[in-house]
Amino acid sequence: MSTPAPIHIIGGGMAGSEAAWQAAQAGVPVILHEMRPERGTFAHQTGELAEMVCSNSFRSDDDQQNAVGLLHWEMRAANGLIMRMGDAHQLPAGGALAVDRHGFSQGVTAALEAHPLVAIDRREVPGLPPADWDSVIIATGPLTSDALAQAIRAETGEDSLAFFDAIAPIVHIDSIDLSKAWFQSRYDKGDTEAERTAYLNCPMDKDQYEAFIDAILESDQTGFKDWEADAKYFDGCLPIEVMAARGRETLRHGPMKPRGLTNPHQPEVKAHAVVQLRRDNALGTLYNIVGFQTKMKYGAQADVLRMIPGLEDARFARLGGIHRNTFLNSPRLLDGQLRLRTQPRLRFAGQITGVEGYVESAAMGLVAGRLAAAERLGRPLTPPPATTAMGALLTHISGGADARTFQPMNVNFGLFPPVGDVRGGRKGRQQRYKAYTDRAKADLHGWLQAAPALA
Ligand SMILES: Cc1cc2nc3c(=O)[nH]c(=O)nc-3n(C[C@H](O)[C@H](O)[C@H](O)COP(=O)(O)OP(=O)(O)OC[C@H]3O[C@@H](n4cnc5c(N)ncnc54)[C@H](O)[C@@H]3O)c2cc1C
Repeated sequence: MSTPAPIHIIGGGMAGSEAAWQAAQAGVPVILHEMRPERGTFAHQTGELAEMVCSNSFRSDDDQQNAVGLLHWEMRAANGLIMRMGDAHQLPAGGALAVDRHGFSQGVTAALEAHPLVAIDRREVPGLPPADWDSVIIATGPLTSDALAQAIRAETGEDSLAFFDAIAPIVHIDSIDLSKAWFQSRYDKGDTEAERTAYLNCPMDKDQYEAFIDAILESDQTGFKDWEADAKYFDGCLPIEVMAARGRETLRHGPMKPRGLTNPHQPEVKAHAVVQLRRDNALGTLYNIVGFQTKMKYGAQADVLRMIPGLEDARFARLGGIHRNTFLNSPRLLDGQLRLRTQPRLRFAGQITGVEGYVESAAMGLVAGRLAAAERLGRPLTPPPATTAMGALLTHISGGADARTFQPMNVNFGLFPPVGDVRGGRKGRQQRYKAYTDRAKADLHGWLQAAPALA
């Protein structure tokens, strides 16, 4: 059999390195284009592949009770290079998987340099790939070079590629107290019942509002870097602490305005302010707090947000933040194979698809590498089932998330289809998480066996 034509992978970070490994292991040649060390970024320090730019942790390694731990398990089961090197360079860190960052990235670099089917080209790809690159994976990450980012933006449209994320906190619905909060859209707007109930409302009286503003103003906050202070995004999405600092009533006339809402638990009492949460995924398991992007530090943020009536026991799928981040509006642009709908020769992987974190990015590289290799070999592969951690992330970014409010996402159980016959709420959590992870492991095995050449 003749050797297949190569797949071009742009970016040798977490996702691109894993994608290259998966495709090459399946017997497909790869040309991996990495601009470092010739051209750097503000965060990368070395020329190694798969450099960890900040913390040295892959987070929890608990594959029974934690969604990122389950992702580790799945990537190990799929012979992932990132997990193999993470395990080989593990440092003691309790239940978390912390790694020696230099040993790890040197290990990834050496494995790919030694692979007979991988060639590494150390140059920037400064624009969309030439037409004769008929299978491409773009995995250039949150700090995609300007020239390529501008070219992607020209291809996908002005609103489709963001250069920062302004994340409002996201809450698991089963941790919200519905004896205090209620479903209603402002002025009951919406044509369908689903639209009229897409919002959850948490009321505050005057004392609660004043205490809340005090807590925001006194909270521990992360400072803005120079480039952030200049960023124009501020006009569109001010952090809540900046709004609160402009005046104690600003939030009450902005994201916390009480107009057009009636609390069915206390219809005779007019709320002084209302915090609104909007449905964040098709499953209806996650709700984002509307307009609450923030630079409050994580610990302070959780404490302040739990002052909101109805959110006293809130569990956060992710906390808010504002960061430099280049990412696509994937729910609108990508199909279930991670291909650009308008140019299917271009796949995307890693953080640029709107997942967040080293492990999630590598997982999307693993999936993209397998899907591209299978396509190249003429044996197209279905994506991993939505009940697995890899499949749940993929389903979320390629259509499960609301494209209008899409922001980067870590893996979490709120992305998984519910399991039947297990107890809800806080008390049933342990049993529920075990059911999610058992189901995921069984279904992942089925997926891996469906493509034995890639297993
Ligand atoms: C400042 C900062 C801190 C972070 N801290 C954490 C953290 O603590 N924990 C965590 O889990 N995640 C963190 N992240 C997110 C982290 O970047 C991702 O989790 C992960 O590195 C993304 O993997 P990736 O492969 O998508 O991108 P990357 O790992 O960034 O890889 C992309 C690669 O593409 C290359 N590249 C870019 N443009 C081109 C081009 N045109 N041609 C050729 N090569 C190109 C880059 O040099 C880079 O090597 C942080 C991100 C930033 C920006």
